[in-house]
Amino acid sequence: MKDQYGRKIEYMRVSVTDRCNLRCIYCMPETGICCVSHEEILRFDEIERVCRIAAGLGISRIKLTGGEPLVRRGLPSLLGMLKKIPGIEQVTLTTNGILLKEHMAELAANGLDAVNISIDTLDEEKYRRVTRGGDLRRALEGLEAALACPGLRVKINCVPLADADPSDWISLAELAEKRSVDVRFIEMMPVGLGRQFAGTERGQIIDTLEGKFGAARIYRGERPGNGPAEYLTFPGFAGKIGFISAMTHKFCSTCNRIRLTPEGYLKACLQYDTGADLRKMLRGGSTDEELRSVMEKVIYEKPACHHFEEQGREEEEDSHIEKKEMARIGG
Ligand code: SAM
Ligand code: SF4
Repeated sequence: MKDQYGRKIEYMRVSVTDRCNLRCIYCMPETGICCVSHEEILRFDEIERVCRIAAGLGISRIKLTGGEPLVRRGLPSLLGMLKKIPGIEQVTLTTNGILLKEHMAELAANGLDAVNISIDTLDEEKYRRVTRGGDLRRALEGLEAALACPGLRVKINCVPLADADPSDWISLAELAEKRSVDVRFIEMMPVGLGRQFAGTERGQIIDTLEGKFGAARIYRGERPGNGPAEYLTFPGFAGKIGFISAMTHKFCSTCNRIRLTPEGYLKACLQYDTGADLRKMLRGGSTDEELRSVMEKVIYEKPACHHFEEQGREEEEDSHIEKKEMARIGG
């Protein structure tokens, strides 16, 4: 369906857990994490019901995310349930890749359409530091398992920090040079702990990559995904280089997404906590029609745009600014 600004809303990010097996410095605190209890998290049948109703409202693509979605037991079976919903054309996954190798076959058997793997650096020591203890080799094993899956679209997501070494961007881009994988650089957003970190402007990354690989061209082919990434191609590359720059190249006017948090809260914009508590309705005996009407209202009233760039002023004035960390919302 279309929202009040005429945007076609067709993509839902479904966060299945707020838990994670890593502690990326810009996403999760090292200690003192207060996880949502198991009873508070939506059960698979509840997620399936919300997705079925969402499909009736025009959602055709679902991304499973978290926290780390693969720490939620039985995730491949949820994937299988969602793939059977009429109207759902694609179900994809965003993961840190640590548990991907062991789950890849089952995910593929349940019809996974694409996977995004978050790897911020190919330097083992830096990876350990950014993820607070993660083992890069396991994420790379996950990447290899995904690449070995026939027909699976694979992307790598990197959130470059302001103090990143440009050689990190070159090493990541080399993956797209040699392998059939798109590498995307995602601008840091001031959500949760992300407020404490500065990101890197895409121009700086493009200059570095052009210095190494030659002049880039804007990719004007079919959009390889659900989202707002803008892609470049470099001479001789097997994959593309993408940029998702929510701050410096705002894409709200074409935003097509809504989000379902692990606790079953339907959110229409990353920055605002406005939306609807669907869990209360699911567990309170609401009918599908009642759920549909509430979801329809959330979609219709999706805010025009985020105001992250006005953060300081906004927070004082607007009590609806989202306070949760990225892993609690579903990044
Ligand atoms: N654990 C999975 C993963 O890392 O891919 C899925 C959840 S994670 C929150 C999804 C993506 O959000 C990751 O690529 C992560 O780097 C990104 N992310 C987390 N905090 C962010 C922030 N403040 N700004 C931009 N991206 C962020
Ligand atoms: Fe976990 Fe993903 Fe957040 Fe890193 S970015 S802490 S892997 S949820």
